[in-house]
Amino acid sequence: MVTNEYIVETLELTAKLMELHDADEFRIRAYTNAVYYLDKFTGDLAGMDLTQLTQVQGVGKTVAGKVLEIVTTGTLKELQDLLTNTPEGVIDMFKIKGIGVKKIKVLWKEVGIDNINDLQIACENGTLGKVKGFGGKTQDSILESIVFLQSQAGKLRMDKAEALAETIAADLKKYFSKAEVSGQVRRKNEIVDSLLFLVTDEAPKAHGFFTHLPESFAENPRISSPFTWRGKYLDNKIDLEIRFVPASQLVQKQFIYSADISHLKHKNEQGKTLMQISAAQGISTEEEIYEKYGIPYIIPEMREGAGEFEWINNHKNEDLITWQGLKGILHNHSTYSDGRHSLEQMARYCQELGFEYLGIADHSQSAQYASGLGVHKVMQQHTEIEELNQKLNAGGGKPFKILKGIESDILGDGSLDYPDEVLATFDFVVASVHSNLNMTEARATERLLKAIENPYTTILGHPTGRLLLSRQGYPIDYKVVIDSCAANGVVIEINASPYRLDLDWRWIQYALEKGVRLSINPDAHEMDGYMDMHYGVAVARKGGLTTSMTFNALSLAEIEAFLAQRKQRVK
Ligand SMILES: [Zn+2]
Ligand SMILES: [Zn+2]
Repeated sequence: MVTNEYIVETLELTAKLMELHDADEFRIRAYTNAVYYLDKFTGDLAGMDLTQLTQVQGVGKTVAGKVLEIVTTGTLKELQDLLTNTPEGVIDMFKIKGIGVKKIKVLWKEVGIDNINDLQIACENGTLGKVKGFGGKTQDSILESIVFLQSQAGKLRMDKAEALAETIAADLKKYFSKAEVSGQVRRKNEIVDSLLFLVTDEAPKAHGFFTHLPESFAENPRISSPFTWRGKYLDNKIDLEIRFVPASQLVQKQFIYSADISHLKHKNEQGKTLMQISAAQGISTEEEIYEKYGIPYIIPEMREGAGEFEWINNHKNEDLITWQGLKGILHNHSTYSDGRHSLEQMARYCQELGFEYLGIADHSQSAQYASGLGVHKVMQQHTEIEELNQKLNAGGGKPFKILKGIESDILGDGSLDYPDEVLATFDFVVASVHSNLNMTEARATERLLKAIENPYTTILGHPTGRLLLSRQGYPIDYKVVIDSCAANGVVIEINASPYRLDLDWRWIQYALEKGVRLSINPDAHEMDGYMDMHYGVAVARKGGLTTSMTFNALSLAEIEAFLAQRKQRVK
């Protein structure tokens, strides 16, 4: 089955390559325009005929034909031709943040650079900075992106790592009586650089434990041993490790291989480490290990040596936030800006999932790339929200409310993106940085502080702007930012998109100490985007977030009271 996403990606790559090869501008435009609209289209493209396709907004007859071609052949002849005429290294350069097709074209055709390695050398020896249109600053930021990109190779974000680990575990279960996911995936790390499995069997195999694994498991014999298989799975770049353990030791080994070493080395009052205690005879559950150690149980995801021993002194595991503890969903987009589903679709689905409120927060006017809302559109949306709030409660039952929010860009100088009289019309404001990401720590921090001090700011959105594995966030002074949120009663977002997971979980405990509430926001751009809150909950628990300090664990009545009180402050 060809998905919409695949169709959009294929067209997008074709458009980029056309531009690289100086194709007719008018045709490139037709593709990029179609990509823009198809990306938001919610129907099933694969099931449509030519006439139906031409009726989709942004799709002309040519593109409609191309969509059909992708659906029937799985690709485009045109794309294949372009690919044969483009060095692979040039296509790799698309991954570098901060250079678009135009610059790549100059590099390839005028400077003669056709791979990332050569580009890196040109940055390092300063020759790139002398090329017209590049300059020292661009050179530095390209080099920074390349180094970052290289450091991320062979790593996976939490969502991809989890899905792959599940597939592999299911595969392993065909060959072993037990196969458990261990290591970083069990610890719910936001980035995973190796997958680890523990397997066991009733009867040992005569010719070694791993000889019967199929070809999908490509062993690297140089680093494997009789009990430990190391290699790769299919065409995945991530390192894979499978350890055979005796069934009687599975609990202990799982404990050891899924915890960070600094957790295991922690010593109790008697000077014994968790590692030593877990190795004792007769341990049959992880609970027993902590009991013998003399502290309450610590959940697997917290075993990082990052403050969990202090945390368990002051809290109980039952206090940790769970999906069930969430009462509403804040920070979501609709078709008013760059979302895929309408306000009503987003609201109905939220209600269906059993939540009490939906906080809509489309992009603000300066975010033109994301169809940010001008003042007129804002007013139009507010009217629709009021009508929907009537409609959605007409059937009686549990009250449900759409809250009027906005994701206001934090402008370069730290101000918000509307005049005060417009800001005053929202129930809540998520303030986020989307542009001008190359700032020094001092300037970026100052910019955030100004936004936090703005009395209309309710939530600080994705505080560092990071995109895991592709863009390092701008540097900020976390303590100063969190302290300022505490002083101004501003909530900090844990953006639950697996690409962001920003605020980083390592700062949750500090925020809790300062009394700052955190909001687990999916930043959903479509209905299914709500499900990202699972990743948000996972990292929130890892960092020790309690239900009582989770902003969107407040009931509708509580959050309305909170927001009303914030409004009082402005006057
Ligand atoms: Zn944003
Ligand atoms: Zn957003």
